[in-house]
Amino acid sequence: MKSKVLDLINRGFWGTLDWVYPPVCASCGEPGERLCGDCHAQIKFITGKCCLTCGVPMQGTSERCCACLTMLRPYTAVRNLAVYDGVIRDCIHALKYENNQGIGVVFTDELAAVVSGRLVARPGHAGAAQPPAEG
Ligand SMILES: [Zn+2]
Ligand SMILES: [Zn+2]
Repeated sequence: MKSKVLDLINRGFWGTLDWVYPPVCASCGEPGERLCGDCHAQIKFITGKCCLTCGVPMQGTSERCCACLTMLRPYTAVRNLAVYDGVIRDCIHALKYENNQGIGVVFTDELAAVVSGRLVARPGHAGAAQPPAEG
């Protein structure tokens, strides 16, 4: 209950801020949204098998990629939301170098799904993903 109230307050804050300072897409610059639908659709979300250590998408029977099998990582495990290129790189750069904190709100539900292991492929939309319905 408390987290839902905080979520509503957070979304209300960002909605109000968008009203005062209309956002532009972090990738293409189109006015109106922090990330437009066309750019969001280009993100290559990781929904299939991935390395248990570094989180890169992979195939085969091994649980770890070649790099993680041959070198010691400074971490135990990482899970990635998407392949780091194109639109998601633009979003990370907007957050990191332009202090565009609003872009993080765009991915909150998807990141929560990754953390909880609930990220699933979106039917009819290859490579994209969405969190499953609450329930
Ligand atoms: Zn865009
Ligand atoms: Zn790996």
